[in-house]
Amino acid sequence: MELFGVIGNPISHSLSHVMHNAAFQDMNKDAIYVPMHVEEPDLAAAIYGARALGFTGINVTVPYKEQVVPYLTSLTPEASKTQSVNTVLFTNNEIIGHSTDGAGFAQAVVNELDIKLAGKRFLILGAGGAARAIIHQLAEENCQLIIANRTRHKAEQLAQEINPNFANQVQVISLEQADLAKATATSEIIVNTTSVGMEATIDQSPLPVELLLPQHSVVDIIYNPQESNLLAAARKLGCQTRNGVGMLVWQAVKAWEFWWNIKPDVDVMYAALNKSLDKN
Ligand code: NAP
Repeated sequence: MELFGVIGNPISHSLSHVMHNAAFQDMNKDAIYVPMHVEEPDLAAAIYGARALGFTGINVTVPYKEQVVPYLTSLTPEASKTQSVNTVLFTNNEIIGHSTDGAGFAQAVVNELDIKLAGKRFLILGAGGAARAIIHQLAEENCQLIIANRTRHKAEQLAQEINPNFANQVQVISLEQADLAKATATSEIIVNTTSVGMEATIDQSPLPVELLLPQHSVVDIIYNPQESNLLAAARKLGCQTRNGVGMLVWQAVKAWEFWWNIKPDVDVMYAALNKSLDKN
Protein backbone atom coordinates (compact mmCIF):
# COMPACT_ATOMS: atom_id res chain seq x y z
CA MET A 1 0.00 0.00 0.00
CA GLU A 2 1.27 3.49 -0.86
CA LEU A 3 1.23 6.11 1.87
CA PHE A 4 0.28 9.78 1.49
CA GLY A 5 -0.74 12.52 3.88
CA VAL A 6 -0.78 16.18 4.75
CA ILE A 7 1.22 17.87 7.50
CA GLY A 8 0.14 21.11 9.16
CA ASN A 9 -0.86 22.74 12.42
CA PRO A 10 -3.79 22.88 12.97
CA ILE A 11 -4.84 19.97 10.74
CA SER A 12 -8.20 18.87 12.16
CA HIS A 13 -10.07 21.16 9.69
CA SER A 14 -8.35 19.64 6.65
CA LEU A 15 -10.54 17.87 4.08
CA SER A 16 -7.67 16.70 1.87
CA HIS A 17 -7.95 13.09 3.02
CA VAL A 18 -11.63 13.07 2.04
CA MET A 19 -11.01 13.87 -1.62
CA HIS A 20 -7.76 11.90 -2.02
CA ASN A 21 -9.14 8.74 -0.42
CA ALA A 22 -12.35 8.99 -2.51
CA ALA A 23 -10.24 9.27 -5.67
CA PHE A 24 -7.95 6.37 -4.60
CA GLN A 25 -11.02 4.19 -4.08
CA ASP A 26 -12.55 5.28 -7.38
CA MET A 27 -9.37 4.34 -9.25
CA ASN A 28 -8.75 1.13 -7.26
CA LYS A 29 -5.46 2.52 -5.99
CA ASP A 30 -3.90 0.58 -3.12
CA ALA A 31 -3.14 3.81 -1.25
CA ILE A 32 -4.17 5.77 1.81
CA TYR A 33 -3.99 9.49 2.69
CA VAL A 34 -3.93 10.71 6.30
CA PRO A 35 -3.94 14.14 7.99
CA MET A 36 -0.93 14.52 10.33
CA HIS A 37 -0.57 17.14 13.06
CA VAL A 38 3.05 18.27 13.35
CA GLU A 39 4.48 20.65 15.94
CA GLU A 40 7.07 23.09 14.62
CA PRO A 41 10.13 21.63 16.44
CA ASP A 42 9.26 18.24 14.89
CA LEU A 43 9.08 19.45 11.29
CA ALA A 44 12.43 17.98 10.18
CA ALA A 45 11.68 14.70 11.98
CA ALA A 46 8.28 14.57 10.28
CA ILE A 47 9.80 14.96 6.79
CA TYR A 48 12.63 12.48 7.35
CA GLY A 49 10.24 10.17 9.21
CA ALA A 50 7.81 10.13 6.27
CA ARG A 51 10.72 9.22 4.01
CA ALA A 52 11.88 6.50 6.42
CA LEU A 53 8.34 5.07 6.62
CA GLY A 54 8.19 4.80 2.84
CA PHE A 55 5.65 7.51 2.07
CA THR A 56 5.33 8.19 -1.67
CA GLY A 57 4.44 11.81 -1.08
CA ILE A 58 2.90 14.33 1.28
CA ASN A 59 1.16 17.66 1.09
CA VAL A 60 2.22 20.56 3.27
CA THR A 61 -0.19 23.15 4.60
CA VAL A 62 -0.23 26.17 6.91
CA PRO A 63 2.11 27.11 8.55
CA TYR A 64 4.87 24.99 6.99
CA LYS A 65 4.83 25.76 3.25
CA GLU A 66 7.96 27.94 3.50
CA GLN A 67 9.51 26.36 6.58
CA VAL A 68 9.76 22.96 4.93
CA VAL A 69 12.13 24.16 2.18
CA PRO A 70 15.46 23.59 4.03
CA TYR A 71 14.64 19.89 4.52
CA LEU A 72 14.16 19.18 0.82
CA THR A 73 16.90 18.16 -1.62
CA SER A 74 15.47 20.10 -4.57
CA LEU A 75 12.62 22.34 -5.64
CA THR A 76 10.70 22.39 -8.91
CA PRO A 77 10.62 25.77 -10.72
CA GLU A 78 7.04 26.31 -9.44
CA ALA A 79 8.18 25.94 -5.81
CA SER A 80 11.41 27.83 -6.34
CA LYS A 81 9.60 30.85 -7.78
CA THR A 82 7.45 31.32 -4.66
CA GLN A 83 9.77 29.59 -2.12
CA SER A 84 6.65 27.72 -1.03
CA VAL A 85 5.96 23.98 -1.12
CA ASN A 86 2.58 22.27 -0.84
CA THR A 87 3.57 18.91 -2.39
CA VAL A 88 6.55 16.66 -1.63
CA LEU A 89 7.70 13.59 -3.56
CA PHE A 90 10.05 11.05 -1.96
CA THR A 91 12.26 9.17 -4.41
CA ASN A 92 15.20 6.85 -3.65
CA ASN A 93 17.68 9.69 -3.30
CA GLU A 94 15.67 12.85 -3.26
CA ILE A 95 12.99 14.76 -1.38
CA ILE A 96 11.52 17.05 -4.03
CA GLY A 97 9.36 20.08 -3.20
CA HIS A 98 6.72 21.31 -5.62
CA SER A 99 3.91 23.86 -5.54
CA THR A 100 0.54 23.19 -7.15
CA ASP A 101 -1.41 26.03 -5.49
CA GLY A 102 -1.01 28.59 -8.29
CA ALA A 103 -1.61 26.17 -11.14
CA GLY A 104 -4.53 24.63 -9.22
CA PHE A 105 -6.17 28.02 -8.80
CA ALA A 106 -5.65 28.93 -12.45
CA GLN A 107 -7.06 25.61 -13.69
CA ALA A 108 -10.10 25.93 -11.41
CA VAL A 109 -10.84 29.43 -12.72
CA VAL A 110 -10.42 28.39 -16.37
CA ASN A 111 -12.72 25.39 -15.94
CA GLU A 112 -15.31 26.82 -13.59
CA LEU A 113 -15.68 30.23 -15.27
CA ASP A 114 -15.07 28.82 -18.75
CA ILE A 115 -12.59 31.56 -19.67
CA LYS A 116 -9.14 32.03 -21.14
CA LEU A 117 -6.81 33.78 -18.69
CA ALA A 118 -4.55 35.80 -21.00
CA GLY A 119 -5.34 39.50 -20.82
CA LYS A 120 -7.97 39.16 -18.06
CA ARG A 121 -8.07 41.97 -15.48
CA PHE A 122 -8.06 40.74 -11.86
CA LEU A 123 -8.49 42.53 -8.53
CA ILE A 124 -6.80 40.34 -5.91
CA LEU A 125 -7.68 40.98 -2.27
CA GLY A 126 -4.84 39.82 -0.01
CA ALA A 127 -1.12 39.15 -0.32
CA GLY A 128 -0.57 36.17 2.00
CA GLY A 129 0.74 32.71 1.14
CA ALA A 130 -2.13 31.64 -1.12
CA ALA A 131 -2.16 35.01 -2.89
CA ARG A 132 1.55 34.67 -3.56
CA ALA A 133 1.11 31.44 -5.51
CA ILE A 134 -1.99 32.75 -7.30
CA ILE A 135 -0.42 36.08 -8.29
CA HIS A 136 2.79 34.51 -9.63
CA GLN A 137 0.73 32.08 -11.71
CA LEU A 138 -1.67 34.71 -13.08
CA ALA A 139 1.28 36.94 -14.02
CA GLU A 140 2.72 34.04 -16.02
CA GLU A 141 -0.64 33.63 -17.73
CA ASN A 142 -0.40 37.28 -18.89
CA CYS A 143 -3.20 38.59 -16.68
CA GLN A 144 -3.40 42.22 -15.51
CA LEU A 145 -3.37 42.30 -11.71
CA ILE A 146 -4.32 44.85 -9.07
CA ILE A 147 -3.53 43.84 -5.46
CA ALA A 148 -5.03 45.33 -2.30
CA ASN A 149 -3.80 44.05 1.05
CA ARG A 150 -4.18 45.23 4.65
CA THR A 151 -0.39 45.18 5.02
CA ARG A 152 0.49 47.13 1.91
CA HIS A 153 4.23 46.40 1.87
CA LYS A 154 3.52 42.68 1.35
CA ALA A 155 1.60 43.50 -1.82
CA GLU A 156 4.38 45.86 -2.93
CA GLN A 157 6.99 43.17 -2.39
CA LEU A 158 5.02 40.80 -4.62
CA ALA A 159 4.73 43.46 -7.32
CA GLN A 160 8.50 44.08 -7.12
CA GLU A 161 9.20 40.36 -7.58
CA ILE A 162 6.93 40.09 -10.60
CA ASN A 163 7.02 43.36 -12.49
CA PRO A 164 10.67 43.24 -13.71
CA ASN A 165 9.91 39.91 -15.44
CA PHE A 166 6.43 40.64 -16.76
CA ALA A 167 6.26 44.23 -18.05
CA ASN A 168 4.52 45.84 -15.08
CA GLN A 169 1.47 43.63 -14.85
CA VAL A 170 0.95 44.17 -11.13
CA GLN A 171 -0.36 47.36 -9.58
CA VAL A 172 -0.80 47.87 -5.83
CA ILE A 173 -3.60 49.96 -4.34
CA SER A 174 -4.77 50.80 -0.83
CA LEU A 175 -7.94 49.49 0.79
CA GLU A 176 -9.44 53.00 0.68
CA GLN A 177 -12.93 53.01 -0.81
CA ALA A 178 -11.93 55.38 -3.65
CA ASP A 179 -9.01 53.15 -4.74
CA LEU A 180 -11.14 50.02 -4.51
CA ALA A 181 -13.94 51.69 -6.50
CA LYS A 182 -11.55 52.52 -9.36
CA ALA A 183 -10.09 49.02 -9.29
CA THR A 184 -13.44 47.22 -9.27
CA ALA A 185 -14.70 49.40 -12.13
CA THR A 186 -11.82 48.24 -14.35
CA SER A 187 -11.58 44.59 -13.17
CA GLU A 188 -13.35 41.60 -14.68
CA ILE A 189 -12.59 39.04 -11.97
CA ILE A 190 -12.39 39.72 -8.22
CA VAL A 191 -10.58 37.17 -6.07
CA ASN A 192 -10.63 37.06 -2.28
CA THR A 193 -7.49 35.37 -0.98
CA THR A 194 -7.76 36.82 2.53
CA SER A 195 -9.21 34.87 5.43
CA VAL A 196 -11.90 37.55 5.88
CA GLY A 197 -15.20 35.70 5.64
CA MET A 198 -14.34 32.68 7.74
CA GLU A 199 -14.26 31.89 11.46
CA ALA A 200 -14.16 35.11 13.55
CA THR A 201 -14.81 37.25 10.45
CA ILE A 202 -17.59 35.07 9.01
CA ASP A 203 -19.98 38.06 8.91
CA GLN A 204 -17.51 40.35 7.16
CA SER A 205 -16.60 40.97 3.54
CA PRO A 206 -13.03 41.80 2.37
CA LEU A 207 -14.54 44.30 -0.12
CA PRO A 208 -17.41 46.79 0.37
CA VAL A 209 -20.12 44.83 -1.46
CA GLU A 210 -21.65 48.00 -2.94
CA LEU A 211 -18.63 48.13 -5.27
CA LEU A 212 -19.64 44.88 -6.97
CA LEU A 213 -21.09 45.04 -10.48
CA PRO A 214 -23.25 42.34 -12.08
CA GLN A 215 -20.64 41.75 -14.80
CA HIS A 216 -17.97 40.75 -12.26
CA SER A 217 -16.96 37.16 -11.75
CA VAL A 218 -16.17 36.72 -8.06
CA VAL A 219 -13.99 33.93 -6.69
CA ASP A 220 -13.48 33.44 -2.97
CA ILE A 221 -10.82 30.83 -2.17
CA ILE A 222 -12.53 30.25 1.19
CA TYR A 223 -14.57 27.02 1.01
CA ASN A 224 -15.81 26.78 4.59
CA PRO A 225 -18.36 28.39 4.68
CA GLN A 226 -19.22 27.29 1.15
CA GLU A 227 -20.70 30.71 0.43
CA SER A 228 -18.92 33.60 2.12
CA ASN A 229 -20.56 36.96 2.72
CA LEU A 230 -18.80 38.34 -0.36
CA LEU A 231 -20.03 35.47 -2.56
CA ALA A 232 -23.60 35.74 -1.24
CA ALA A 233 -23.73 39.47 -2.07
CA ALA A 234 -22.20 38.86 -5.50
CA ARG A 235 -24.66 36.06 -6.31
CA LYS A 236 -27.62 38.23 -5.29
CA LEU A 237 -26.39 40.91 -7.71
CA GLY A 238 -26.18 38.42 -10.57
CA CYS A 239 -22.40 37.94 -10.64
CA GLN A 240 -20.89 34.58 -11.55
CA THR A 241 -19.48 33.21 -8.26
CA ARG A 242 -17.20 30.33 -7.24
CA ASN A 243 -15.80 29.24 -3.87
CA GLY A 244 -12.44 27.66 -2.97
CA VAL A 245 -13.43 24.05 -3.56
CA GLY A 246 -12.18 24.26 -7.15
CA MET A 247 -8.72 25.42 -6.10
CA LEU A 248 -8.56 22.69 -3.46
CA VAL A 249 -9.51 20.02 -5.99
CA TRP A 250 -7.22 21.20 -8.77
CA GLN A 251 -4.15 21.62 -6.55
CA ALA A 252 -4.77 17.99 -5.53
CA VAL A 253 -5.12 16.88 -9.16
CA LYS A 254 -1.79 18.51 -9.93
CA ALA A 255 -0.25 16.77 -6.89
CA TRP A 256 -1.36 13.39 -8.36
CA GLU A 257 0.27 14.35 -11.65
CA PHE A 258 3.50 15.12 -9.76
CA TRP A 259 3.44 11.95 -7.63
CA TRP A 260 2.14 9.48 -10.20
CA ASN A 261 1.84 11.26 -13.54
CA ILE A 262 -1.85 10.33 -13.65
CA LYS A 263 -5.04 12.34 -13.26
CA PRO A 264 -7.78 11.40 -10.76
CA ASP A 265 -11.47 11.79 -11.54
CA VAL A 266 -12.10 15.45 -10.74
CA ASP A 267 -15.84 14.93 -10.30
CA VAL A 268 -15.21 12.29 -7.61
CA MET A 269 -13.05 14.77 -5.71
CA TYR A 270 -15.59 17.62 -6.03
CA ALA A 271 -18.42 15.32 -4.89
CA ALA A 272 -16.49 14.01 -1.86
CA LEU A 273 -15.55 17.51 -0.74
CA ASN A 274 -18.99 19.03 -1.24
CA LYS A 275 -20.64 16.11 0.60
CA SER A 276 -18.29 16.60 3.52
CA LEU A 277 -18.84 20.39 3.55
CA ASP A 278 -22.64 19.93 3.36
CA LYS A 279 -22.46 17.98 6.64
CA ASN A 280 -20.78 20.92 8.46
P1 NAP B 1 -2.04 33.87 5.14
O1 NAP B 1 -0.74 33.65 4.46
O2 NAP B 1 -2.09 33.94 6.62
O3 NAP B 1 -2.67 35.24 4.53
C1 NAP B 1 -3.84 35.79 5.07
C2 NAP B 1 -4.29 36.99 4.23
O4 NAP B 1 -5.51 37.48 4.77
C3 NAP B 1 -3.30 38.16 4.25
O5 NAP B 1 -3.39 38.88 3.05
C4 NAP B 1 -3.86 38.98 5.43
O6 NAP B 1 -3.49 40.35 5.38
C5 NAP B 1 -5.34 38.85 5.18
N1 NAP B 1 -6.14 39.09 6.37
C6 NAP B 1 -6.28 38.27 7.46
N2 NAP B 1 -7.12 38.83 8.35
C7 NAP B 1 -7.52 40.02 7.83
C8 NAP B 1 -8.39 41.05 8.27
N3 NAP B 1 -9.04 40.97 9.45
N4 NAP B 1 -8.58 42.12 7.46
C9 NAP B 1 -7.96 42.21 6.26
N5 NAP B 1 -7.11 41.27 5.79
C10 NAP B 1 -6.90 40.18 6.56
O7 NAP B 1 -3.10 32.74 4.74
P2 NAP B 1 -3.24 31.93 3.36
O8 NAP B 1 -2.57 30.63 3.49
O9 NAP B 1 -2.85 32.84 2.25
O10 NAP B 1 -4.81 31.62 3.36
C11 NAP B 1 -5.74 32.67 3.15
C12 NAP B 1 -7.13 32.11 2.93
O11 NAP B 1 -7.14 31.28 1.79
C13 NAP B 1 -7.66 31.24 4.08
O12 NAP B 1 -9.02 31.50 4.19
C14 NAP B 1 -7.46 29.82 3.58
O13 NAP B 1 -8.38 28.92 4.13
C15 NAP B 1 -7.70 30.00 2.09
N6 NAP B 1 -7.00 29.01 1.25
C16 NAP B 1 -7.75 28.26 0.39
C17 NAP B 1 -7.13 27.34 -0.43
C18 NAP B 1 -7.94 26.50 -1.37
O14 NAP B 1 -7.42 25.52 -1.92
N7 NAP B 1 -9.17 26.86 -1.62
C19 NAP B 1 -5.72 27.20 -0.39
C20 NAP B 1 -4.98 28.00 0.49
C21 NAP B 1 -5.65 28.91 1.31
P3 NAP B 1 -2.10 40.85 6.07
O15 NAP B 1 -1.02 40.55 5.06
O16 NAP B 1 -2.33 42.29 6.30
O17 NAP B 1 -1.94 40.06 7.34
